[in-house]
Amino acid sequence: MASLQQEQTAARAGNGSVATATPTIDVTNPATGEVIAQVPDLGREQVAEMARLGRAAQPGWEALGFEGRGRVLLRMQRWVMDNADRVIRTIVSETGKTYEDAQLAEVNYAANAFGFWPRNAEEYLAEERVKTANVMLKGKKLVLRYRPVGLVGVIGPWNYPLTNGFGDCVPALAAGNSVLLKPSSVTPLTSLLLAEGLRECGLPEHVLQVATGSGGGTGGAVIDEVDMVMFTGSTETGKKVMAQAAERVTPVSLELGGKDPLIVLSDADLERAANAAAYYGLFNTGQTCISVERVYVEAPVYDEFVAKLTDKVRGLRNQPSTGPGTSEVGSLTSPPQVDIVEQHVRDAVDKGARVLVGGHRPERPGLWYEPTVLADVDHSMLCMTEETFGPTLPVMKVADTEEAVRLANDSPYGLSASVFSKDVARGEAVARRIEAGAVCVNDAVTNYLALELPMGGWKASGLGSRHGAGGIRKYTKQQSLLVSRFHTKRELYMFPYTPRMTRLIGRFQKLLYGRGKRD
Ligand code: NDP
Repeated sequence: MASLQQEQTAARAGNGSVATATPTIDVTNPATGEVIAQVPDLGREQVAEMARLGRAAQPGWEALGFEGRGRVLLRMQRWVMDNADRVIRTIVSETGKTYEDAQLAEVNYAANAFGFWPRNAEEYLAEERVKTANVMLKGKKLVLRYRPVGLVGVIGPWNYPLTNGFGDCVPALAAGNSVLLKPSSVTPLTSLLLAEGLRECGLPEHVLQVATGSGGGTGGAVIDEVDMVMFTGSTETGKKVMAQAAERVTPVSLELGGKDPLIVLSDADLERAANAAAYYGLFNTGQTCISVERVYVEAPVYDEFVAKLTDKVRGLRNQPSTGPGTSEVGSLTSPPQVDIVEQHVRDAVDKGARVLVGGHRPERPGLWYEPTVLADVDHSMLCMTEETFGPTLPVMKVADTEEAVRLANDSPYGLSASVFSKDVARGEAVARRIEAGAVCVNDAVTNYLALELPMGGWKASGLGSRHGAGGIRKYTKQQSLLVSRFHTKRELYMFPYTPRMTRLIGRFQKLLYGRGKRD
């Protein structure tokens, strides 16, 4: 059990500030049920000390400029590739996901991000000269600039410890901030390993620190210390994070739950739609905020689509991933998930749904649930209305496109969606009617790979976004500058007021704004 991660933990968590008496949290391999490491459960004082160290290190990091910071982050891109197998195996060991899920949706994302943000940060955060149409300000220089907020707190989830925890640190660092990262206590090892990598790549001490520990305890302490919070997780916890951050008027960016629909129109390529539903619904064992969570199929093609999907899901291997190509669907990651999945399936069956494949917990240690296809579902069932976050694909027959759109939008969430049709214009027209922050046509999820494209939720799915200019500007404070270069000793409207000048200003205002078209 004494592991590499334990050594890393002792050496790295809190950057040496962890007292020996610090309580610890067990890290378990959810695919086997074995405890594989322990990490410190850091308390308020330890987090406060880390925040102090992070703040002290930030000005030096900012002073390196985009180029200097970029050098470190680009070295890290190389490090991720050089250490890909080690990173993948660490992710697999603490999440139970397959080798391929860790390779494609985590290592691939991180390697891309370590290149993208340093290459684009300067352009996204460049000072802008602003022109104004207001004649009162003619001749004055107007500038919009972005300054790092200082210390960013990233609170990460357990479903993607690299992509959604560490990945959010990359633009924050590129913008010149120090970062305090609180990974989920379920999956802290990936963050500790990556923090070590950044250190090897020359990141100055304390610029990025990993605060391991529990949600409300360590996570709550992080919120109270930082200048901005980037949170990924459930809507319920997101609300708590927002409420706590409001106490100090700390800005937050929230990436929360989703119940992402996939619509199959009657003219869709059913083979592609079924492959996409199976893959994007079940990769990462369905524990992806933007994974396909519910499927609506127009009546004329419902039976054929369901048959194809069932066929594809039946052939999937649901077993521990011991290396490349050994399993398609891994274990669940967080203990409560198995109960949630089981509850949603049982509820659907009780209300008349048919289980076409799966529908059980396999008899083995660890957190397992079979990939499951549910037919004849409707919106009276939890599996169609609440986030399941597991390997289930409920498929509902709809009369027509109108019903599909209405039901897709009948959700408190609005994170992601997809529409399948061979008529691309029709597919896009339907996509534009879906209430979600990102919609794909004849595809799903892959918008997440375009780091140029903002990604964020509507409704209860979040606030703010990842990626694109907004994905790095959120880690900055805007500052507007007005510089008066050519001026008289006194503007005409300044004190003292006189009747003549007030009348003159009134006439001037009429001249400026009084000539609008009247109906
Ligand atoms: P949470 O939202 O509770 O956890 C996300 C992160 O927040 C973790 O690091 C957690 O720490 C931390 N945290 C928990 N409570 C607090 C708090 N009061 N203050 C600050 N940080 C806190 O996720 P759950 O594990 O409870 O998952 C519940 C549901 O959320 C899932 O079933 C799924 O539906 C959804 N979910 C959505 C995700 C997404 O990508 N949008 C990701 C994960 C879950 P710790 O883990 O140590 O408790």
